[in-house]
Amino acid sequence: MEKTLVIIKPDAVKKNLIGEIISRFEKNGLRVAALKKLKMTKEQAMGFYVVHKDRPFYESLTDFMSEGPCVVMVLEGEDAIAKVRKIMGATNPAQAEEGTIRKDFAENIERNAVHGSDSPQSASYEIPYFFSALEIL
Ligand code: GDP
Repeated sequence: MEKTLVIIKPDAVKKNLIGEIISRFEKNGLRVAALKKLKMTKEQAMGFYVVHKDRPFYESLTDFMSEGPCVVMVLEGEDAIAKVRKIMGATNPAQAEEGTIRKDFAENIERNAVHGSDSPQSASYEIPYFFSALEIL
């Protein structure tokens, strides 16, 4: 069993899509191991996305991620990291496959509804960024 960190981003929370998005993961065999709603500060968003600090979209991305509440969760399942990435679809919704979350709900390459860890190394940074061991069940 593998764990991954998923975020329902502020654009999707604003559109009342929390239930729809969680249900897509659950229907694909992933289990919610931890979950909370929170609003990141700009500094917290910068810390979360520190791997992208030299990218041209870092400022804009961290403004977006701190503009409103998001839902963060740990999902668990077999090949959870790859499975979540497949259900989410490509970063750019214009390239996302039919039936993926980003194809259906993303506004553009930045406001793309969801985040999912891209590797075990990322998950091991991202999960403890939001959750203590006591909160992951
Ligand atoms: P992900 O793993 O599919 O989320 O994609 P990345 O790790 O490459 O990028 C992280 C996040 O930065 C994406 O989910 C988008 O919200 C945003 N992003 C990625 N590429 C771009 C871009 O070219 N322009 C802008 N404005 N945002 C981007």
